[in-house]
Amino acid sequence: MTNSTKIVIVGAGPAGLACAIVLARAGRQVIVREWKDCVGHRFHDDFQGLESWTRELDVLEELAAAGITADFDHHPFERGTVFDPSGHRYAVKGLRPLFYLLRRGPGQGTLDSALLAQARAAGVEIRFGDWVKTFADAGVLAAGPREAGVIAAGHVFETDMPDGAWLALGHEVAPGGYAYLLVQAA
Ligand SMILES: Cc1cc2nc3c(=O)[nH]c(=O)nc-3n(C[C@H](O)[C@H](O)[C@H](O)COP(=O)(O)OP(=O)(O)OC[C@H]3O[C@@H](n4cnc5c(N)ncnc54)[C@H](O)[C@@H]3O)c2cc1C
Repeated sequence: MTNSTKIVIVGAGPAGLACAIVLARAGRQVIVREWKDCVGHRFHDDFQGLESWTRELDVLEELAAAGITADFDHHPFERGTVFDPSGHRYAVKGLRPLFYLLRRGPGQGTLDSALLAQARAAGVEIRFGDWVKTFADAGVLAAGPREAGVIAAGHVFETDMPDGAWLALGHEVAPGGYAYLLVQAA
């Protein structure tokens, strides 16, 4: 692949768009092919946590180092509560944010729409409604997980609870995985 070859990326999820931004800013011509007609199509302003607790660098600094601006709505969480399988609760606190609460979906202020705007500003061509059947080109396959290893379901609802983050581990609550509740005032 020469430097003038267009790079095709399959999938306009966070991985595909982040990759597209980095490559386009490095001077490459990039096309993102996305099956659906918008970004974040699986989500409807759902909260997700952008994890930072396992990293040496804060995740936003890591993104900035890759040329990705955190111009999506985000909110740092330094503390939370974890329940073990016996129901014991543990307060968890970090010296810096454990994660950033953000929103997913095609709407304004979400991670997905911010990455889309940055990709377009960097000159990336995005083709929506473009189902890639076979992928023989040199390029990047960022089509997301093929099969869910667990059942992942999210629910968004209004509550008058205080802001906070709660995580529960254990077979009864979340067989083979975890369940979490994230509350943030609108
Ligand atoms: C309910 C729920 C809660 C979650 N909570 C969190 C959380 O709090 N924190 C966290 O970090 N992660 C969370 N996740 C996981 C997170 O959403 C995914 O890890 C992330 O979206 C993966 O990004 P990706 O770009 O790899 O793939 P995806 O977001 O799956 O994007 C892949 C894209 O490729 C497109 N595509 C697929 N096949 C083709 C094809 N053949 N041709 C063209 N386009 C194609 C798809 O339409 C899709 O837009 C959660 C997931 C769910 C379902």
